[in-house]
Amino acid sequence: MLDYVTDKVQDETRQGEAFAPFASDLNQYKKRFYIESYGCQMNFADSEIVASILNKEGFGATRNVDDADLIFINTCSIREKAEQTVRKRLTEFKKLKVQKRGILVGVLGCMAERLKSKFLEEEKLVDIVVGPDAYRSLPGLVEEAEGGQKAVNVLLSRDETYADISPVRIDSNGVSAFVSIMRGCNNMCSFCVVPFTRGRERSRDAESIIKECKDLFEQDYKEVTLLGQNVDSYYYTDSLKVSPNGGDLEGAVTFAKLLEKVALISPLLRVRFSTSHPKDITDDVLHTMAKHENICNYIHLPVQSGSSRILQLMNRTYTREWYMGKVNRIRQLIPDCGISSDIIAGFCTETEEDHKDTLNIMEYSKYDMSYMFFYSERPGTLAQRRYKDDIPEEIKKRRLQEIVEVQGRLSLESNKKDIGKTFKVLIEGDSKKSNKDWMGRTSQNKVIVFPKENNELKKGNYVMVKVTDCTQATLLGYIIN
Ligand code: SAM
Ligand code: SF4
Repeated sequence: MLDYVTDKVQDETRQGEAFAPFASDLNQYKKRFYIESYGCQMNFADSEIVASILNKEGFGATRNVDDADLIFINTCSIREKAEQTVRKRLTEFKKLKVQKRGILVGVLGCMAERLKSKFLEEEKLVDIVVGPDAYRSLPGLVEEAEGGQKAVNVLLSRDETYADISPVRIDSNGVSAFVSIMRGCNNMCSFCVVPFTRGRERSRDAESIIKECKDLFEQDYKEVTLLGQNVDSYYYTDSLKVSPNGGDLEGAVTFAKLLEKVALISPLLRVRFSTSHPKDITDDVLHTMAKHENICNYIHLPVQSGSSRILQLMNRTYTREWYMGKVNRIRQLIPDCGISSDIIAGFCTETEEDHKDTLNIMEYSKYDMSYMFFYSERPGTLAQRRYKDDIPEEIKKRRLQEIVEVQGRLSLESNKKDIGKTFKVLIEGDSKKSNKDWMGRTSQNKVIVFPKENNELKKGNYVMVKVTDCTQATLLGYIIN
């Protein structure tokens, strides 16, 4: 099933990926840094911001950890397993520190925020600890650590959005890029550590987002994915333009408006977004999607559970019926919309009935794809403080397996329905298996592979492809003129 997890929220194939910009960078640098990233796409986007900050201060990037003077690991705390992976990596880096004196190791991101100076005091694994809102202070912290001081900055901010920093793109395909439009989260889902590690929700200045997307398009990118933990609650207003009657602020930009502004940059620029909390996605957003052909017909709409009782314990603020209503509305306004989900198996007190409700809502929603997890209790979350993590691991795993099986069948059924249809596809590059085939995506975010057929096409081109066959993970087809 992992094979199928190719979506861009948390791409399992990218976990631990080393940063690789400046491939042909011939500049002389005072120091070389290496960054490895884990977790969601926001973290990968943050590593691009960190690289940009360090590069401006005269540090060069390297993809080879043995060449690095500074080693950074951008971490994820969402599940215990993610933290264990990072710990293991840090012990490997510690060995490198013994072999090569003078190198510094820094922890960035959510785990840095969660564990703060514990990393320096108790674990003694690292020299620098920097939370997600403190990356601007990184060059100063490196200097402090070089002087032998403990270098920690885990202050969370109410307004940091790094709006003025142009990220250095890691994405080597040169076709699709991620653009952060907001940071933090105010939702307090009871299982989730994000509000504690990433702080309060704040929206980035709309103008800087549009500018970044325009720049990307000018550099030949053909697809942007607008990123946030809860993009539908995006709301930006210039505080100087306060409405005289105290109503909505003049010039306020909602997510629907932002989406439209980005879509209007060019019909040749595809626009995607992630993630949508079901409680916040509005008809306005759906109408905007329907109106602009270049806004992709795809919504990542995590359900988490199909049981209203569990959803209440999760503090998701919607019921099963309400969620189903949202799916109906999407299908009504955008009939060919792809929908995917996140699902958690074995949350506190989950019964077999609750679990069946989850399997059943998956069938109802006909997800094209899902990210599926078993519940992992996280320290400090509402669930950890209020409820007992009482579902034995083997039951969690068995339920997860059943969820994975249902999703496998739904994905295959959804792909089979596409056989015989023709899709507009954005070519992303060679297919993984053969350089005689292209790999691209449909508007619905499905991966499609098709022979190149000696055409003069290149990645970044749009092409019409007729689907002839499929697997659970991929559509197969051929180019039609
Ligand atoms: N903001 C997004 C949302 O609300 O859907 C996603 C945030 S999180 C980075 C991605 C997914 O991880 C969640 O949707 C949830 O399914 C899963 N997740 C979060 N906390 C978890 C936990 N404690 N145990 C298992 N899965 C978890
Ligand atoms: Fe976590 Fe919920 Fe916020 Fe998503 S919306 S980041 S699951 S608290």
